[in-house]
Amino acid sequence: MQLRKDPCGIFCVILIYASLVYADYALSRWMILPTFSDGLWAPVHIIIFNIILFLVVVSHSRTMLADPGIVPLNKSSEEKLRRSVPEYSDDESGSDNEIFLRPEEYVGEDWSVCTRCESFRPPRAHHCRVCRRCIRRMDHHCPWVNNCVGELNQKYFLQFLIYVGLCSGYAIFVIIHSWINHSDHGETGLKGPRGQSGHHIKVVHTIVLSMEALLFGMFVLAVSCDQLSAIFNDETAIESVQRRNRRSPRRSKRVSKISLLRGICGNGSIWTWLLPCTPSTFEREVIHFPSAPPHYDV
Ligand SMILES: [Zn+2]
Ligand SMILES: [Zn+2]
Repeated sequence: MQLRKDPCGIFCVILIYASLVYADYALSRWMILPTFSDGLWAPVHIIIFNIILFLVVVSHSRTMLADPGIVPLNKSSEEKLRRSVPEYSDDESGSDNEIFLRPEEYVGEDWSVCTRCESFRPPRAHHCRVCRRCIRRMDHHCPWVNNCVGELNQKYFLQFLIYVGLCSGYAIFVIIHSWINHSDHGETGLKGPRGQSGHHIKVVHTIVLSMEALLFGMFVLAVSCDQLSAIFNDETAIESVQRRNRRSPRRSKRVSKISLLRGICGNGSIWTWLLPCTPSTFEREVIHFPSAPPHYDV
């Protein structure tokens, strides 16, 4: 469990939760109750909407608080490095005093050393400037979840997108339904707290709620398309940018789409992929660090 102390991320998270509270109030009080005042449909709609909101909150908090796949710092090597040279970099433009680490000699071939957090990182790990750590299979840092989206929390991020989309769609459905069956004479209908006419208040809530639902809905739809495209191409957003900068073609892999999805969502039943309550850990490659730091010849 961790919470990033990034002001932009914290502001976005507060904005999301405030939007959810407002949507719950406006939809229940000004759309559902006046429209479905007769019968059981009002509590049914309120319960369904609140279940979706609950799933949004759980998937969001799990994405925000879960470990996205932070690469542990290798303390022994770090200490060794600091004793040897005060500063180091694997930047080729550096001076003669720099140490060029060769992590392939002790952790594996494709591994590299981060020049910023000094961790030995496996392939596909990237450094996040906001989190100040290297993240395994980092896709991007998302201020809306105040965390990186990486190997271990991408599943929750996808769930968050799905439930926000569902929430937006349901809100729009209820808004349209409430205006089709609009009545100024309902029991709980368009009256303010002191019995005053609430027609204009419903209009204002309709405009604000519709804009909120459309903005969030379109946003998560666009991000979901990007996410699915990245998963099916087995290429994160960062890797895609790096590949385009190198002008190299996309790697073609003969891996089925369902296998790629399993790599993100785990090996359980497909239905459990939608549940934000399943454990975040599933079978994955374990990081093995060397028991002793390597020797350097300067
Ligand atoms: Zn790093
Ligand atoms: Zn990050």
